[in-house]
Amino acid sequence: MKKDLTGITAKEYTFNTEEDICFSDEGVELCAKIVAKCAIHLQKKGVYKLFGDLKAKVTGSCERCGKQQVHFDVARRFNYQYILGEEPSLGSEHECRVEDYDRVYLTDPVIESSDVLSEQLVLALPGQILCDDNCKGLCPLCGINQNLESCVCKETHKGSPFAILNTLQKN
Ligand SMILES: [Zn+2]
Ligand SMILES: [Zn+2]
Repeated sequence: MKKDLTGITAKEYTFNTEEDICFSDEGVELCAKIVAKCAIHLQKKGVYKLFGDLKAKVTGSCERCGKQQVHFDVARRFNYQYILGEEPSLGSEHECRVEDYDRVYLTDPVIESSDVLSEQLVLALPGQILCDDNCKGLCPLCGINQNLESCVCKETHKGSPFAILNTLQKN
């Protein structure tokens, strides 16, 4: 959803937004239903502050065992500062302050809420998507799903580093 910032004043303007976003990144496919509550106001001429709160229901697949339809929820708060105009080049004016918000330069006074939400969704995702914290994953040797079946690869492997060669030769 596009939001036109013209007409936004120092008085906080709140809006709700919903987006369904699907994307794939490095072989990980995800779909999310995002609901967000945002508040925006004019901080000073040409500078807007956006505060938001997002909640998303995410569906993905387990990165260890490949199980599909893994559902989980994420939530995140975010702050942006939108500045109309060109981004100053990093130089004399560069301030090394630690900011608690993301600063975005806009050429037009319009923000695209789906850009904001997809960016924040990525930041809210866990480092690894798992069907279960204890997911045993696939056996690196025979490829079976160790949550559902067990194999003897590890035991054979444990006996001798070369034991696997024997099982391969048998086949
Ligand atoms: Zn799994
Ligand atoms: Zn195995």
